[in-house]
Amino acid sequence: MLLAQSSTPPAPVSFDLSAMDRSADPCHDFYQYACGGWRSSHSLPADKSRFGRFDELREYNSYLLRSLLEDASKPGQHSELEHKVGNFYSACMDEKTVDARGLQPIQKWLDEIATLQKPQQVLDLGARMQASGLRPFFGFGVGPDLHNSTRNIAGIDQGGLTLSDRDYYIKQDAKSVEVRERYVEHIRKMLVLAGLNQEQAAADAKTILALETKLAEASMDRTMRRDPKNLDHKMTLEQLAAQAPGIDFPRYFKLVGAQSFDELNVGNPEFFQKLGGLVVGVPVADWKAYLRWRVIKSSAPLLSKPFVDENFDFSGRYLSGQKELEARWKRCTALTDQNLGEALGPLYVEKFFPKEAKERMDVLVGSIESALGKDIESLDWMSPKTKEAAKDKLGKVANKIGYPKKWKDYSSVETRSDDLVGNVLAARVFEHKRDLAKIGKPVDRSEWEMTPPTVNAYYDPSENNINFPAGILQPPFFSPKVDEAVNYGGIGVVIGHELTHGFDDQGRKFDGDGNFTNWWGADDSHQFEQRAACLSNEYSGFIAVKDEKGEVHLKGDLTLGENTADNGGLKLAFMAMQQQLGDKMDAQIEGFTAAQRFFLGFAQVWCENITPQRARELALIDPHSPGKYRVNGTVTNSPEFPKAFGCKRGDAMVPQKACQIW
Ligand SMILES: [Zn+2]
Repeated sequence: MLLAQSSTPPAPVSFDLSAMDRSADPCHDFYQYACGGWRSSHSLPADKSRFGRFDELREYNSYLLRSLLEDASKPGQHSELEHKVGNFYSACMDEKTVDARGLQPIQKWLDEIATLQKPQQVLDLGARMQASGLRPFFGFGVGPDLHNSTRNIAGIDQGGLTLSDRDYYIKQDAKSVEVRERYVEHIRKMLVLAGLNQEQAAADAKTILALETKLAEASMDRTMRRDPKNLDHKMTLEQLAAQAPGIDFPRYFKLVGAQSFDELNVGNPEFFQKLGGLVVGVPVADWKAYLRWRVIKSSAPLLSKPFVDENFDFSGRYLSGQKELEARWKRCTALTDQNLGEALGPLYVEKFFPKEAKERMDVLVGSIESALGKDIESLDWMSPKTKEAAKDKLGKVANKIGYPKKWKDYSSVETRSDDLVGNVLAARVFEHKRDLAKIGKPVDRSEWEMTPPTVNAYYDPSENNINFPAGILQPPFFSPKVDEAVNYGGIGVVIGHELTHGFDDQGRKFDGDGNFTNWWGADDSHQFEQRAACLSNEYSGFIAVKDEKGEVHLKGDLTLGENTADNGGLKLAFMAMQQQLGDKMDAQIEGFTAAQRFFLGFAQVWCENITPQRARELALIDPHSPGKYRVNGTVTNSPEFPKAFGCKRGDAMVPQKACQIW
């Protein structure tokens, strides 16, 4: 029997009265007031560990992508791009073939690992795995030179871990100990599925955890990595050789496929010093266990059902508290977008991205950039000289909206309708070669880091540009059908957020040309840091999750950049809206003034429900605060908020001392 396909749900809406909880007091808990209705009427879907109004759009978008991919995979006349993405999607959806193949798609790697005898062979295979996107030991990539942002250089950095943060390996609290016990059990089960006998699998699982723990101990933590100074280590190959004896890097780079180069950036030199010692000090048999695990774990979602299920059981059900695996078509649309994003992108843009959205965005972005100019001018803590430098940087911000001007050329990528792993490998090799070709070449700032259907946005400090993929230019963020106040609260705050990233604790360390250099007066830096410390302390007081395993607070320093961007974004968007609406600010729509609709529109982007497991995981790894604090943390610092809702000193949303940088 064929199951009926679930049909596309209705498109998300922007401002939604039914999402509110009018019984709540906006001055006491604005998040509850704006989102309480939505949160109680939208229980968490079984296939999600977090789901909010932001994710409603992601979910809706995945239906749009499915319609494109189903059309592209039907027999008939197709363009070359349709043919490529259609094949990719078909191969992913062909669960029968995937299941019948079992482990066979990665058997070649496992056979090679079995033959290794010497440390040099371990490294050589590691290099070839790197070129296929499997990334054992450490990361290798290409990007702008921190001090010469127009030129690309190669870079290596710490890596090689399976769990998402070094703390999982190192911390001694009850939860971390439990995660490690479950992780060892998960490795053991996967190795048994891959054909190892019980005894060997149990022994290897312990070895793998011990080895990854050594890599974790050599790694810098996430918060330290937010400071570019800690990752800024350009060196020659000779200097690298002296830093990390034990690894023949020229040989490694050759096997990775790079043409020769003289200098590179080493994100964390100490990591490589320690890795050099481990390569020769750790028995080859242990490295073989580690490599085998890296191949199996990173390929598991692409293999037969037993691997998919065990992978989900640990990484989804246990770590994130997600009850069910997502439907296969959702995983396959996401995988196609991840791997062939700019082949799917043109099809998506043509069908679903209206030209008017781009035109409206140009106007909105311009109005928010001009608000930041006025804001810089009005600061009482910044010297005139630093203000000039800040305005110079602002003037050089480039705006990218919707999709790339020039698409990647996928003509060399072959996809087949019956080879999922082969297709993913072809896409990864394509990206790897594209990257390698950039070493020593000028940076092309027209390239995008996100694909067009992505519901997200970003600021790139080395390129000093703000980027808004077509996917986010829809409700609840943006709609041509709603009043300006709601759009300013939605996409307006997002624009202000990305722009503020250029001036947060990380972005402020790059100049208008994208170079890592100090353009701040000493006292201005001091003033900035004082204000940043206020925000960091404020958010460190917020509790992400509280259960029998204890209370987990947000990390104020890890989330500082995002919180700075949220606070700055809200302020700038409000200023721009005031400028645009002028004396129309007090006119009411549906019983709310423009200021009220602005704050409600802003808050309603972040209505969400989340499992405690996922909240705990995100508090450790996510530089963004959870929805509740993106809303309540931000509005409490806004002088406009109490005016809009008539809140008084002493109310929870009106603190004694508000934190504000921009
Ligand atoms: Zn951000």
